[in-house]
Amino acid sequence: MPEHRPRRALVTGGAGFIGSNFIAWWLGEDHDVHVVDLDRLTYAGSLENLASVRDSSRHQFVQGDICDRALVRRLLEQEAVDTIVHFAAESHVDRSIDGPAPFIHTNVVGTFTLLEAARDVWAGDASTRFHHVSTDEVYGTLALNDPRFDESTPYQPNSPYSASKASSDHLVRAYHHTFGLPVTVSNCSNNYGPHQHPEKFIPTVIRSALARQPIPVYGDGSNRRDWLYVADHCRAIGAVLANGSSGETYCIGGDAEAANLTIARTICGVMDEMLPERAPHESLITFVRDRPGHDWRYAIDASKVRRTFGWMPLESFETGIRKTVAWYLQRLQAR
Ligand code: NAD
Repeated sequence: MPEHRPRRALVTGGAGFIGSNFIAWWLGEDHDVHVVDLDRLTYAGSLENLASVRDSSRHQFVQGDICDRALVRRLLEQEAVDTIVHFAAESHVDRSIDGPAPFIHTNVVGTFTLLEAARDVWAGDASTRFHHVSTDEVYGTLALNDPRFDESTPYQPNSPYSASKASSDHLVRAYHHTFGLPVTVSNCSNNYGPHQHPEKFIPTVIRSALARQPIPVYGDGSNRRDWLYVADHCRAIGAVLANGSSGETYCIGGDAEAANLTIARTICGVMDEMLPERAPHESLITFVRDRPGHDWRYAIDASKVRRTFGWMPLESFETGIRKTVAWYLQRLQAR
């Protein structure tokens, strides 16, 4: 298996949900790695997400835009960066429907800017690595009996968000093919866990249930997603960084496919147990007008990462969601 030992990394979007979980996990896991964390702190990013690494001498936060080529170039040079882990993105599908422009800017132009800077500064150095964090949404939507997505599934993005992520995946692939830039790409299913922005589905269910407000579920709640606890995603990215082959794509998923209504009901059940005096929470579930162009089903076949790295999720949805609900309740009730 190839080996890459990241020493000085540029992590983009490290103040967001997955990026902040990844940095905390990585600094704890690899005591030699140094991280420069470049994040613009949009509405989705928060320094609070980085509280656990604030005092680490191996973490440096830089507020800035991945579209700022001079800044990116300077960081790569000054910090002698050998590895880029690229999370920064506009990530909320509903926002991409209301206003696609920032999605094209950050997800497409931003990724292009990082690739250009890496090509320039790294100048063919084979000991470098650009890891691009992407989504299963680039593959489009599945019917119930369709086979799950894997690395050979053709791209068919349906939302401005997934189209912008697909564009960035293609750019990363092209920079490898044309310029020989050492890259890996991972396409992961829906994540959940601590530090996710309140606008996303699972935090919305928990927050609404706690506030005894309607829990909004799109359409008839039958849309299906494959859920992965964020720490398991971080471990998979770590495996790809260390032992992934340049030019390869890796599909990551939790083998935990469920309808949105089932997810909402499961969370309500966990909250009934944790807050019995407020049960039942399920009666708060309310169906709302469906998202335009809403993909019906995503499901990932993660055989390649399982086989190649011996990776597997450590959390089932049942264990991961309990940790997640407990984390949000502790924070929301402290307010
Ligand atoms: P997030 O929205 O929580 O965080 C994104 C971060 O990027 C924020 O901190 C934001 O401030 C920063 N950012 C945005 N624009 C920037 C710019 N121009 N320059 C610098 N920083 C900028 O997103 P997330 O859920 O943590 O997702 C991270 C990555 O993982 C994204 O690329 C997303 O497509 C991918 N992904 C997410 C999921 C999921 O379920 N959340 C699943 C698969 C893949």
